[in-house]
Amino acid sequence: MRLIVLGCGGSVPDGSRNGPGFWIEGEEAKVLLDCGAGILPALPRRVRDWTGITHIFLSHFHIDHVVELPAILFALEHAPGIEERTAPLEILGPPGTARLVGGLESAFERDFTQQRFDVAVREVGPGNAHAIAPGCTLRVLSVPHTDESLAVRIDERGAAVGYTGDTAPSPDLAAFFRGCDVLIADCSLDEPSQGAGHLSVEETARLASDASVPRLVATHLFPGLDPAKTKKRLEAAFPGEVQVARDGLSFDM
Ligand SMILES: [Zn+2]
Ligand SMILES: [Zn+2]
Repeated sequence: MRLIVLGCGGSVPDGSRNGPGFWIEGEEAKVLLDCGAGILPALPRRVRDWTGITHIFLSHFHIDHVVELPAILFALEHAPGIEERTAPLEILGPPGTARLVGGLESAFERDFTQQRFDVAVREVGPGNAHAIAPGCTLRVLSVPHTDESLAVRIDERGAAVGYTGDTAPSPDLAAFFRGCDVLIADCSLDEPSQGAGHLSVEETARLASDASVPRLVATHLFPGLDPAKTKKRLEAAFPGEVQVARDGLSFDM
């Protein structure tokens, strides 16, 4: 599997990072996790054959994670060569995803699901592994952020990548991510803050340690959190490999 960071910021732009968006490419599955601001133009810049996208996963409905969903669907509709495409596209997300897509359709007076290829919405919940391609599954965990918020992991043939989405600390996270090769984790806060709905630097490091993952990619840093200093703090509390996400970062697992 390949991971490409398309955007690692949050709701407030700082000029160097797009909103949240991560490209996960398996043998057949091509999955976009979240659709933050700037993800649409990042797709053709960072991904070869981005129009072959098979799944879009929404972690939750905060605007910084979903804002470019309609723009991506609209662009796909008009992409050169798309008339050749027959493979379906699935939009995965928490319960309420169909309502969100329906709301966008009425706001823009378009039927996004009526394309030359099938576009379907699948609402997913914790528990079962959802098959998304041969040998490739997606699992979710409810996390404390908004009512619908989900963390997600994608497993394919022995490789796995996990993404917390936005989350406050939760005792369930570490077990959920155990066995992942890479953990992309919320690392928004300088210090823990009750009610903020996000992880602080040390909480992020503790999660990665407790999950025993070999590699941590810290993301969603709030403006003002210095990447170099954050990396040092993470490394002090987590024995694995640490990367503070930057747009364009990519690697294979
Ligand atoms: Zn966010
Ligand atoms: Zn959020």
